Amino acid sequence: MKAKKKVCKWYQLCPIKYFVEQGKLDRKWINEYCLIDNKKCIRYQLEESGKYHPCNMLPNGEIMEELDY
Ligand code: SF4
Repeated sequence: MKAKKKVCKWYQLCPIKYFVEQGKLDRKWINEYCLIDNKKCIRYQLEESGKYHPCNMLPNGEIMEELDY
C-alpha cells in the first residue's frame, strides 16, 4: 500500500508557504519539504529544538536576503 502523503505540522504557519503563495519562491520548496513532511528541513529541526531561525531561511538552511515577510 502506498504511504499517505503527510503535510508538515508547521505548514499553515510557515513563512515558506506564504512566500510560495506570494509567488516569491519556487513551489519546489513546498513540494520537496512541506507537503511530504520532510524532517530534513532545517527550519523544522530548529523549530523542534526551539532555536531561532529567520523567516527568510529556506528549508535547506540557506538565507534568501531578498525575501521579506
Ligand atoms: S519549510 Fe520546513 S518547517 Fe516550514 S512547513 Fe515546510 S517543512 Fe515545515
